[in-house]
Amino acid sequence: MPSSSGKASDKAQPKAVNDRPFVLDPLFRRVTELAGVGPRNAAFLAKLTGGDKILDVLWHKPIDFIDRRFNPDISAAQAGQIVTLSLRVDSHNAPPRRNLPYRVKCHDETATIDLVFFHAHKSWLEKQLPIGSDIIVSGKIEMFQGHPQMVHPDAIGSEEDRESIETLEPIYPLTQGITNKVLRKCIDDALPRLPALTEWQDSAWKAKNKWPDWADAMRTLHAPQEAEDLHPTNPERARLAYDELLANQLALGMVRYHQRARKGRAFEIGGALREKLLASLPFSLTGAQIRSTEDIDSDMGRKDQMLRLLQGDVGAGKTIVGALAMLNAVASGAQAALMAPTEILARQHAETFAPMMEACGISVVTLTGRDKGKAREEILTQIASGEAQIIIGTHALFQDKIIFSDLGLAVIDEQHRFGVHQRLMLAAKGKKDKGGVDILVMTATPIPRTLTLTAYGDMDVSRLDEKPPGRKPIDTRLISNENLGAMIEGIGRQIKNGARVYWVCPLVEESEFMDVAAAQERYEILQATFGERVGLVHGRMKAEEKDAVMQKFAGGDLDILVATTVIEVGVNVPQATIMVIEHAERFGLSQLHQLRGRVGRGGDQSYCFLVYPPPLSGTAKERLSIMRQTEDGFLIAEKDLELRGAGEILGTRQSGMPVFKVAELPAHNDLLAAARDDSRLILDKDPRLETPRGEALRLLLYLFERDQAIRYLRSG
Ligand code: ADP
Ligand code: MG
Repeated sequence: MPSSSGKASDKAQPKAVNDRPFVLDPLFRRVTELAGVGPRNAAFLAKLTGGDKILDVLWHKPIDFIDRRFNPDISAAQAGQIVTLSLRVDSHNAPPRRNLPYRVKCHDETATIDLVFFHAHKSWLEKQLPIGSDIIVSGKIEMFQGHPQMVHPDAIGSEEDRESIETLEPIYPLTQGITNKVLRKCIDDALPRLPALTEWQDSAWKAKNKWPDWADAMRTLHAPQEAEDLHPTNPERARLAYDELLANQLALGMVRYHQRARKGRAFEIGGALREKLLASLPFSLTGAQIRSTEDIDSDMGRKDQMLRLLQGDVGAGKTIVGALAMLNAVASGAQAALMAPTEILARQHAETFAPMMEACGISVVTLTGRDKGKAREEILTQIASGEAQIIIGTHALFQDKIIFSDLGLAVIDEQHRFGVHQRLMLAAKGKKDKGGVDILVMTATPIPRTLTLTAYGDMDVSRLDEKPPGRKPIDTRLISNENLGAMIEGIGRQIKNGARVYWVCPLVEESEFMDVAAAQERYEILQATFGERVGLVHGRMKAEEKDAVMQKFAGGDLDILVATTVIEVGVNVPQATIMVIEHAERFGLSQLHQLRGRVGRGGDQSYCFLVYPPPLSGTAKERLSIMRQTEDGFLIAEKDLELRGAGEILGTRQSGMPVFKVAELPAHNDLLAAARDDSRLILDKDPRLETPRGEALRLLLYLFERDQAIRYLRSG
């Protein structure tokens, strides 16, 4: 085992083959090296911590603690208290029937107490608690018919175990298969492996905040002594949070810095193609669309590489802005690519784009994972030869095999599903002699400003904060499950008048199958009422099947589309005017907002029904009421952040947003701003992280697995 007492070296740490400094190796070993962790527990731990390394376990932070140091006599212990008792075992009372509890009677000098076990194994209990032996137990005191008892003690041992039982026990978030005890054992074994690392924080800043060293902060993180210690602003947690935010800002800053340093190309702006396209539209651009286009033109017209985020609520009209940007590239003889996060969206974009572009004499191809064999080869040839001027696709466009003749611009739709890593791969698609690829990211997720910073660093931002004219507000209502019948009747009447309905069933977090089951069940119930004009899509269907159902809905062959959240992003069916969301209380506000944005796209009055099982908690009610008060996505996102915190805001399951291990927003908003300033200063002085502090900061990037950015240093 590596020594934990080694002095931090001021010299540069030696490098491993993969560039990760050797000193970090103990943290990057597999969890199976830890006490009590075999393949089975390793799998549970991976589910819990998201990784299979010792470092992943160490980042799993306690959310509470139990104080087991109170050691009263039985007579002094009160119901509800957590206590550690010293007892003698008197007798075992096995139950006459299996569904009754097994009782072990014990006493001390002041009173008697029962230890109570359900579904107990007699032989195991007799071994653990032999009659006449002296034991120590820890757990919660309860009163049963006036007599003290302890149900399933948390710890049982003998006098020798006193020290390990009578402690402050940190409590961790758990998952099925891992107990707090097992987790603590892992962490106890992992903590001594923490290497002493060269300090990467500025010493004056560290002193000013009274922050401990990293390793000390980690140890304290896992040994809370009082309620304060769990608070995000206590010095240890604040230090670790700052570390994480700095790593985040530094990584984004490095990507940005080196992207800027690369020469881009100056594109020709607009021209005849733009005139043609604008003339073909049945509407004129909104002020916000014009302003965003001007931002983009100015970026693309300069020799720097564009890295711009176009933020606009669902339906704000991002597509046309993206199209105008693509024309700039095409007008200059380069190719432009548009990437969507899903197959359905890529196809939908293709359908709106192709005719629009082809009318301007531009050739468009579509490439998704579904194109196979000969057809695929043909598309690839067109992309490689430059015959294809605009390429629309999914992640498939990132693949190594795909060679562009001369990619000038990549427009990425709904970025929150694309990570930094994918952005890097994309940048590598540019032609070496022409300079890097300009990037325009379009997101419908109204990300609060603070989060924009963590997700995109100092990316340039244009906001479409004005909707196209003529949209009616969506009538949003909270509906208790008890009133579902009446709602369905109402919907039936609307369908007779030509309405089309989305019916969303939520993801069930615990099980990837249960959500499908719930949607399936609802589908069958609705079919019983509405017959064959009800369809079902969910995430476990094949892309072809999903598309077929979506097509039927879009084409008017279905009145109701039951769906899991697969419809969340992008899909455009202007005739759909009713959105039903079951278990609305389980969704994030931003998600609800996205879903609601599927309706209200045509001229007709639209409705959104947020269905919940009563009773609704106070906070849940407050949250859902916000949906009734506003349709402003940015406002909703800010509220969501206030009420829930950043980790959950975009539905972490599908977002490419950074999920922080220690940092908590908005609690650490101030630290985030400081980290951004800090990272700018660092990169101005030491863009390649070569100074001693730079070397130490590389350690930091590895600790938070933001080391992709280090690749930039190697490549260019
Ligand atoms: P987003 O991608 O931002 O969700 P879209 O680009 O799909 O939104 O636009 C939504 C709808 O609004 C489309 O049907 C589009 O044709 C229409 N639209 C876009 N811009 C305008 C505008 N300036 N005036 C009227 N309608 C518009
Ligand atoms: Mg869109």
